[in-house]
Formats: sequence, C-alpha cells, structure tokens
Amino acid sequence: MTPLLSTPAAGRCLRTIGTLLHNQQSALMPQLWTASRALSTGTGQDQYDVVVVGGGMVGAALACALGSSPMTSALRVAVVDGQAIDPAAPLPDASEAPEIRVSAVTPSSVNLFRDVGAWSTVQSARNAPFDTMQVWDSAGQGFVRYSAHDVDASVLGHVVENRVLLAALHRRLSESENTHLVCPAKVDSITWPESEVSESDADVRRESNGQAEASGQGAGASVHLSTGKTLGARLVVGADGGRSRVRSLAGLRTVGWQYGQRGLVATVVTDREHSTAWQRFLPTGPLALLPMGGHYSNIVWSTTESHARALESMPHSDFAAAVNRALSEEHAPQPPSSVSSFLPALPFLGGSSAGGFQPPPRVVEAVGRRASFPLSLVHSGKYVQPRLALIGDAAHSVHPLAGQGVNLGFGDAQALAAVIAKGVSTGRDIGELGLLEEYEAERRAANLGMMAALDGLQRLFHAQSAPVALARNLGLDLVQWLTPVKKRIMSYAMGMEPVR
Ligand SMILES: Cc1cc2nc3c(=O)[nH]c(=O)nc-3n(C[C@H](O)[C@H](O)[C@H](O)COP(=O)(O)OP(=O)(O)OC[C@H]3O[C@@H](n4cnc5c(N)ncnc54)[C@H](O)[C@@H]3O)c2cc1C
Repeated sequence: MTPLLSTPAAGRCLRTIGTLLHNQQSALMPQLWTASRALSTGTGQDQYDVVVVGGGMVGAALACALGSSPMTSALRVAVVDGQAIDPAAPLPDASEAPEIRVSAVTPSSVNLFRDVGAWSTVQSARNAPFDTMQVWDSAGQGFVRYSAHDVDASVLGHVVENRVLLAALHRRLSESENTHLVCPAKVDSITWPESEVSESDADVRRESNGQAEASGQGAGASVHLSTGKTLGARLVVGADGGRSRVRSLAGLRTVGWQYGQRGLVATVVTDREHSTAWQRFLPTGPLALLPMGGHYSNIVWSTTESHARALESMPHSDFAAAVNRALSEEHAPQPPSSVSSFLPALPFLGGSSAGGFQPPPRVVEAVGRRASFPLSLVHSGKYVQPRLALIGDAAHSVHPLAGQGVNLGFGDAQALAAVIAKGVSTGRDIGELGLLEEYEAERRAANLGMMAALDGLQRLFHAQSAPVALARNLGLDLVQWLTPVKKRIMSYAMGMEPVR
C-alpha cells in the first residue's frame, strides 16, 4: 500500500467509486467496500474491519455469521480471547460423563448454528434433544406440561455441553479465510477516535455550531492487548461476558440487581432415560433436571448462597438424595387446586397433548465436580456507541430459570451480523452510530421483553404467601389447559416468535 492511497482523499474517492458501482453491481460490493475501508486507515496485519473481544459462544457465533455470509465474508475479523482456543482440539468423548456447563439451545439458535455450518459438528457429538417440558410448583398442585407436538415441532430444544457448542463454532471460525484468532490475549485498553467519543457531546457541538456535521467517518478504534499488540478496528464488538471489560472501557453504565442466589450445576445419573426438561419451583428457587443423553442429566439448582455452598461440598450420595427430596417432597401446605379437576373436561380449551403430571426420574448417582455461580440481572444502559457494539452477556445477563441467557446472545449475534451486512451492501461505515442503533433498537426490545418475563417469574415463584401461591397454581393450571396461551408461551421461549 502506497502512502498516497492511504490519504483520506484517496479513501473518499474509492468509497465514491464503490457507491457508484454498488448501484450497478451489488455483487461486487463486499470486496470493494473492504478495500476502501482498509485503504482509508492504512493496511497492515493489525488492521481489522471488526475486532470481536471474547471468543465465547456468542462472540464466536458472530464471527462465524460474518465469515459465512457472502456479503460480509471479505471483512477482516479478529477474535480476541483471554484464554487459549484450539480449533483443532478433538470433540469431547461421548462415552465420558458430560461436563457440568450446558445450555438448552432453542430451535432458533439451532438455525443459527445450521446457517453458519456448525450444527453438523454438534450433532456428531453428544447432544440431547428434548420434546417435553414440565414445570411445577412445590407449594401447590399446579403444573404445566409443554409438548413439542403442541407447536407442530419435533423438539423444544437441545441440551448441549458448552464445550461442544464452542468447539463447533471454533472449528468453523478457523475455516474462515478472513477471520483471525488472537489468543490468549486480554484487552487492556481501547482508544476511541477523538471525534466520535461521545455522540451526546457531538450533538451539543452540532447544536452550538448551528450547522449539521457529517457523522463520524474518522479513524477507527485501537484495541490494546496484554501482549503489547494493538489492533485497529472499524468496529469493536464487546462479547466478553457479564463482567465486560469493553463495556467498562467504553464507560457504559449498567442497571440490575443480585438475586441473592447461586446457580449450582452438576451431572447426575437417573434410573431411566428421558427426553423431558423438568423444573420444580421450590421456596428457595427453581431446580431443573435436564436430559443429557442416556441416563445422564444435568442439574441447575438456583438457591440461597449458603444452601448452594452446602450442596456443592456434600458427598455425592447426599447430593443425589437432596435432589430426589427436592423434586418429590412437599415443601409447603398444599392448597387445593380448585380448577385442575374440571379444566381438562372443557373441550373448548383445547387440552394438552403432553398429558397430565408425570413424576420425574429418580437420581441414583451424582458424578464429577459441582460448581455454583452468583445470579444477577444486569442490563447495559446502551448497547452501542460509535465504533462499538455489545452482544451476549456483555449487554445483558439473566436468571438461568428458563435457560435463555445464551439464546438471547445468539439473537444479538444474528441481528448484529445482519446490520453489518446491510452496512456493507449499502456502502455505509460499519462503525457508524446510526447503523449500529438499528441493531440496538431491535435487540433491546427483544431482550427487555424476555428479561421482564424471567424476572417476573423469579419473583412470582419466590413469593410464599398463601394467596400468591394459590393464584400461581391457578395460573399454572390455566396455562396447562388453555392451548392458545400455551402455544404462545412455547413459541416465544423457543425463539420462534418475537415479544409484542
Ligand atoms: C448456572 C447457569 C446455567 C445456565 N444455563 C443456561 C442455559 O441452559 N441456556 C442458556 O441459554 N444460557 C444459560 N446460562 C447463561 C449462559 O451461560 C450465558 O448467557 C453465556 O455463557 C454467555 O455467553 P457469552 O459468550 O456472552 O459470554 P461468556 O461465555 O462469558 O464468554 C466471554 C468470553 O470473553 C473472554 N474474555 C473476557 N474478558 C476478556 C478480555 N478482557 N479480553 C479478552 N477476552 C476476554 C472470556 O475468556 C470468554 O471466552 C446459564 C448461566 C448460568 C450461570
């Protein structure tokens, strides 16, 4: 690259030619757009169009989506992670007990994996489809059984070890010509372009000058790594988890609260194979038993901090007994279920193809390690700034009671990839605030809807007073037998229907 071509004038000239050509031949656009952007900042091995900080499930999904779309596959993408990533590592051996960190991925997330060519790898490893979900309350007899048949689907989702999801995505990443893994390397600091640091400052400047300024077409951001390297980026994506360093370096504030609970995860062996996601709401929090294939199941038990610590350290046999007690014993006086007896008989309600209440399998053994994580709700006040977008837990962390956390993140990755593709196809700057705000508007609405639903459920089931417990059980009964309502809830939880 010659110094002449790296001048702003040359960059503008190339962009103009690109825009003209786009009108005639949009198929040429991705390559041309990349060339004009690279020339305007100066090329070199450390210049990227997109730097994704965090190669976890959500960051890796975004990079795969960019690498597999014809519109964005020519973009130079760096994925930076503090931990070493080996895309050539063998898949976990399915004959061994599953790892304790698993995700229940929705059909919508499965579609993303299919689109980026990563689902076949997941299918070649252990994954447990589930076709039924049963939710019930320890303080009453109300329950809901959801069946995939109710929504004309064969499965409600798949339970997959996080390490399998990651391995599938990292394999696809390594196959993308323009995607580079930069790891292990932590982000130490980020320099944002001076003129684009604060959009509100820019608004004030525009107003005080009494004239419109062109929106930022300045230099990109510079991402400084712990290794001493610096990466130039048109767009920095913070996919670095709930304690996002990128979010704090951008000065973005969060709102949220701690639930005063920990989520304990464990692997257990049950007395029979099953394909149901079981969840019982206890006075201390929900306990989920998720199928993991064969006789293995995964436990996600949200409970008080002291109880979680005790569960974490008790012997395997005591833990198995504690799970069985929690899934079967009565934990409060059982109010009579006033409606469940006659609701099934009302033909206009539609009934349920999942049938009546089923007892869950019994745990015969706990295996491997146990761990617990503090549970909180965290929401970033903004997801975007000029040259910055947050996705996944960096933008929002939710209670795991409905297994939605990473699925919301996959939705972010899909939406941001689509907005970047739109920017490329129309010759816009992919770090431009106006473009990124389209991503924010779409995902903020979707995420807020789900966050409100999950937080509401958490509070509803936490309340133990008799009137609330009675109303709650009545509500569960109604959902169980009101087929249209049930279908809406299922479609929403499966990621197949947006919140309204
Ligand atoms: C007990 C429990 C059970 C759960 N069960 C489910 C479930 O069933 N279904 C579901 O959808 N969700 C579930 N979740 C939520 C889910 O685990 C998270 O939403 C998901 O892991 C978020 O993915 P992420 O890629 O956004 O962030 P992370 O998984 O946290 O990944 C962040 C990545 O960024 C890297 N990183 C961090 N800081 C830096 C830095 N400074 N520089 C470079 N790299 C950095 C990290 O190494 C990591 O690889 C559960 C959560 C808990 C606690």
